Amino acid sequence: MNDIHVDVLIIGAGPSGCVAAAYLNNQGYDIKVVEKSVFPRFVIGESLLPRCMDHFEEVGLLDCLKAANFELKPGARFLRGDVVCNFDFSDKHSEGWDWTWQVPRADFDHILVKEIIKKGVDVSFEHEVTAVEIADDGSSKTTIKTKEGDTYTIHAKFIIDSSGYGRVLPRLLDLDKPSALPDHSSIFTHVKDVNREEGTEGTLITFDVLDKDTWFWVIPFSNGNTSLGFVSKTEYIDSFKGSNTERMKEMLKLSDYYYDRFKDVDF
Ligand SMILES: Cc1cc2nc3c(=O)[nH]c(=O)nc-3n(C[C@H](O)[C@H](O)[C@H](O)COP(=O)(O)OP(=O)(O)OC[C@H]3O[C@@H](n4cnc5c(N)ncnc54)[C@H](O)[C@@H]3O)c2cc1C
Repeated sequence: MNDIHVDVLIIGAGPSGCVAAAYLNNQGYDIKVVEKSVFPRFVIGESLLPRCMDHFEEVGLLDCLKAANFELKPGARFLRGDVVCNFDFSDKHSEGWDWTWQVPRADFDHILVKEIIKKGVDVSFEHEVTAVEIADDGSSKTTIKTKEGDTYTIHAKFIIDSSGYGRVLPRLLDLDKPSALPDHSSIFTHVKDVNREEGTEGTLITFDVLDKDTWFWVIPFSNGNTSLGFVSKTEYIDSFKGSNTERMKEMLKLSDYYYDRFKDVDF
């Protein structure tokens, strides 16, 4: 394959890559997005903050998202035993959005990438960045490997690394540093939320704080499914034995508030 020359190479077609691509495309820059997977693809991270809406609006990606009727998120609830803390995004002291969405990311991210392609952005799926060289003048030479195993080079004046957990530039340029945070893990699933209550209770995003290091998230989606997940220290998560489903079912017993709603659903 021939070498490609662009102003900006964007690595990754998740929300950050799509917003960056839409912004630069609107400004008339010559850009290319390379994405190693094929969409729709599963990603965790399903609850947005209102500030995200500014970015989607600014780059012209809000209308396609609105049309998908995702579950509205006007705030969030935190539980700790009998203590209930409700955050209402409209209870604020400055201008700005007072709602956002909670979204299954496979659908959400797919809508975004389809929209930027519609706007004329060049996106290549199943193309993985495998090497990057930065010249003294700051320009870059990036090696891309296709699904078929072919390689080609992209020359770009700038690179935006939107690779999320891929951490492409830190890894390939040897800038990666181990995290100083304590070692935490997560175990999660999507369920058909057949016992969902009518009204706000059924659709409210909630974090059940089980102790200082352990919490349980409940993120209902408008498609009738709900995302459930635990976060804790890795050694605690690993202390639950069996398959992931068995471990999730066992951990669910920790949440007095949600046990009945989810104990019999399919994970
Ligand atoms: C347990 C957990 C819970 C979370 N909960 C939330 C939450 O509630 N709300 C929230 O906002 N965030 C949450 N997050 C964080 C959220 O997942 C991320 O911040 C978000 O996905 C980042 O989006 P992104 O567009 O930057 O990257 P991603 O969506 O991760 O997209 C990166 C893309 O880059 C591609 N890529 C990777 N390597 C390469 C390569 N070499 N070449 C080409 N492409 C490549 C990947 O295939 C991927 O599609 C959570 C994270 C975890 C772990």
